[in-house]
Amino acid sequence: MNRPFHRAFPSQVHTRFIFSKSTFLLKDSTWNLCVLLRERRKILAYNVGKLHQRGKLMKVQQPLVLPKDEYNEKLVRNVHPAEWKNPDPAPKYNLVVIGAGTAGLVTAAGAAGLGAKVALVERHLMGGDCLNVGCVPSKGIIRTARAAYDVKTAGEFGVSSGGAAVVDFGKAMERMRRIRAGISFHDSVERFSKELGVDVFIGHGKFTGPDSIAVDGKLLRFAKAAICTGARAAAPPIPGIEETGYLTNENVFWLTELPKRLAVIGGGPIGCELAQAFARMGSQVTILQRGGHVLPREDADAAEFVHKALIRDGVALRLDAKILSARAKGNEKILTVEENGKSVELAADQILVGVGRTPNVEGLGLESSGIDYDKRQGVKVDEKLRTSNPRVYAAGDISFPFKFTHTADALARIVIANALFKARQKTSALVIPWCTYTDPEVAHVGMYEKEARDKGIDVLTLTVPLSNVDRALLDGETDGFARVHLKKGSDTILGATIVARHAGEMINELSLAMTAGLGLSAIGKTIHPYPTQAEAVKKLADAYNRTRLTPFVKKLFAKWLKWQRL
Ligand SMILES: Cc1cc2nc3c(=O)[nH]c(=O)nc-3n(C[C@H](O)[C@H](O)[C@H](O)COP(=O)(O)OP(=O)(O)OC[C@H]3O[C@@H](n4cnc5c(N)ncnc54)[C@H](O)[C@@H]3O)c2cc1C
Repeated sequence: MNRPFHRAFPSQVHTRFIFSKSTFLLKDSTWNLCVLLRERRKILAYNVGKLHQRGKLMKVQQPLVLPKDEYNEKLVRNVHPAEWKNPDPAPKYNLVVIGAGTAGLVTAAGAAGLGAKVALVERHLMGGDCLNVGCVPSKGIIRTARAAYDVKTAGEFGVSSGGAAVVDFGKAMERMRRIRAGISFHDSVERFSKELGVDVFIGHGKFTGPDSIAVDGKLLRFAKAAICTGARAAAPPIPGIEETGYLTNENVFWLTELPKRLAVIGGGPIGCELAQAFARMGSQVTILQRGGHVLPREDADAAEFVHKALIRDGVALRLDAKILSARAKGNEKILTVEENGKSVELAADQILVGVGRTPNVEGLGLESSGIDYDKRQGVKVDEKLRTSNPRVYAAGDISFPFKFTHTADALARIVIANALFKARQKTSALVIPWCTYTDPEVAHVGMYEKEARDKGIDVLTLTVPLSNVDRALLDGETDGFARVHLKKGSDTILGATIVARHAGEMINELSLAMTAGLGLSAIGKTIHPYPTQAEAVKKLADAYNRTRLTPFVKKLFAKWLKWQRL
C-alpha cells in the first residue's frame, strides 16, 4: 500500500527494523540482502514482498504490522497470508470490490451469499482500519485503561488499592494483539475464499476502464464494482512535523513501551479516546486542540463531561492552541505552540496525530473510469451510493461523511441491493448512531437541537441527569445525562444524546425507536428492569408524559376524581 512508511517509529519498535526511517530507495545488492534476511529470519513485519521494481531501484514499503510476535503472525496469516496466490480471474464478475475493510467485506460477503460471482481486492490487510488499526485495537487498550482507572478509584467503593494502579503496558498491548488476532479469522482470506466463495486478490486495485479493474497483472471485468478503499490519517500541516516524526492510528498500536510524555494533536473522538487511554495507563498526556472545546461536534455540555474527565485523569488540555512548528531535539520532539499570543514549547517523547481522515482516492484510476471524486471528500456518490459511472458504487469512509464501521456495514448492504437487484435504497433513510468511547462515553443519534432548529423544526428537548438514576448513583457513574429532542407537539424522536459510562449501549433503544418510527411513548410503555442505567431513557419518556399534563388536562382530571368521591 502506498501509505507513507511512517514518519515516526516508536524508538522501542525502531530497533526491530533492519531499515531505519521512511521510504527507502535501495540498490539491487541491498534488495538481495533484504530477500536473504527475509528468508533467513522470516521477517513477518516487513512487507518486503511488496517491493516495487523501478528500473534498478527498489522501493521498500511499510511493514504490515509490528511487533513480530505469535499474535501478529496469526493476524497476518489470516489477513495477508504471504503464501497466498491470487486466483485466475473469472471471465466476468457480477461485482468486483476494491478494499477489504468493513465496507468491502460486507459487500463481498453479502453479494456472494446471494449467489453473485464476486472478486475482492485488498492491497494491505483484510479487515481494513477497524480490525487492524482502528476500533479493535483502540477498544482493546481502552479496556485496560478503564481497569486501571477502576483500580485507582476503588477506594471510593471501600476496596483498598492504595490509590495507585500499575499498568504493564507491554502486557496490555499483547492482550490487545491476542484478541485482535483471534477476531481476525472472521475477516480472513481463508474464510472469504473457502467459506464464502469470494475470489480474493491481494494487490493494489486500479480501474483500467469503465468496466475493468487491474490487480497483480490480472484483469477483472465486471458488471458492477464497489469502491470501498476507506480513508487514512490526515497529515497535519505543521512545518517540520514530517522530519520530526509522529504516530498515527496506523502505528500507535505497534508500541510496546509506554511513551512517558505523549502530545496528542487533535481533540476529536480519536484524539480524546487515545489521550485518555494513554493517560490512564501512565503517560503524561497533553492534548493540543485548535478550537475551544474537545469533541466540537457534540453538545457543549456533553463535551464538558469529557473535558472534566480528561483533566481528572491528568491530561493537560491546551485549547485554542496553534501549533507553529515541530522539531526533534535528541530523543525529544518539540512542538512550538502559540497560546494567548505567546509562543511556548512543549517537549514530548511521542507525538500522536488525530486531525481527521483523508480518503484513499489515489492510484485508483478513477479518471479512466469516469468516476468523479474530490481529494478531501472522496468519491462522489448519490443517495443510492452510485458514482458518476453507473456501473460503479462506493461505500464506507471513501465516500461518506459519517466514518464509522457500522455505517460502512449499513452502506454495504445498500450497495448490494441497489447494484445487484436494482433496488432504490437511499442513505437518507438511515438512522445513524455513533459513540465516542471516552469515559464517560458520548453517544448520539439523529439530529442535534441546533440542526433541527436550523431546519425550521420546532423542538422540545428533555434531559435527565444521570444523578437522577439510582443505578448510576450505586455504580458511582453519575457523570452524564440522557437527552432527547422531540418534534414539539408530538412524541416523534428527532435525535438523542447520551453521556454515560456505557452510553454506546444505551443509545440503541433510541436508535431502534427512531428506525421503527416508534415515539417516546412506546419507550415509556416498555418496562425497564430496576435498577439499570437505561432507566434514564425511560425517565425521558416519563418527562415527556408530564409535559402532556397541561393545566387544562389537570383540571379535567381533578374534576373527574372529585366526581368519583361523591
Ligand atoms: C483509531 C480509530 C478508532 C476507530 N474506532 C471506531 C469505533 O470504535 N467504532 C466505529 O464505528 N468506527 C471506528 N473507527 C472508524 C472505522 O475504523 C472506519 O469507519 C471503518 O474502518 C471504515 O471502513 P471502510 O471499509 O470504509 O474502510 P477501511 O477500513 O479503511 O478499509 C479500506 C481498505 O481498502 C484498502 N485499499 C485502499 N486502496 C486500495 C486499492 N487501491 N486496492 C486495494 N485495496 C485498497 C485498504 O488497504 C483498506 O484495507 C475508528 C477509526 C480509527 C482510525
